[in-house]
Amino acid sequence: MEALLEPEIRASFVNCTKGEARRLNLPRDLTEQPWSDLDYLGWRDPQAPARGYLVAEHGGRLCGVVLRAPQAGTARRSSMCSLCLTVRSGGVSLMVAPRAGRGAQQGHSVGTYMCADLTCSLVVRGKAATSGPVVHETLTTEQRVARLTSNLDEFLARVLRPA
Ligand SMILES: [Zn+2]
Repeated sequence: MEALLEPEIRASFVNCTKGEARRLNLPRDLTEQPWSDLDYLGWRDPQAPARGYLVAEHGGRLCGVVLRAPQAGTARRSSMCSLCLTVRSGGVSLMVAPRAGRGAQQGHSVGTYMCADLTCSLVVRGKAATSGPVVHETLTTEQRVARLTSNLDEFLARVLRPA
């Protein structure tokens, strides 16, 4: 993805108030993110470990989503990230996104198991170390990236779907 600047990131959030989007903690090293290897910018809140954020292009615009990890820590057992479909032991957790707009006011949310460190983009490119059973996939990196972006698109569509 293209490198993003702080104001674009803050303006992209669809499922929190403008005040929250102004205050939330961004990654400290925006200029040092491996942008060309990222399909989405994802990070855990450095000051609130149960919170995470994900920003990606969706339908021609930037879409930022606030996530919560309802369970303390991550499960020790192996589970599969539903975005990049990687099986990791202890590295995948349930993340819950309040629905955008009226859905959030009605308490609706979308839960998905995903890489707890939000590094799917690096995982599918073989650039992040993961522990877990080695699954030999016949897909190329390009195919794994395409699968990740399509799963991500579906997830964002669910967050944005009118309640
Ligand atoms: Zn993942």
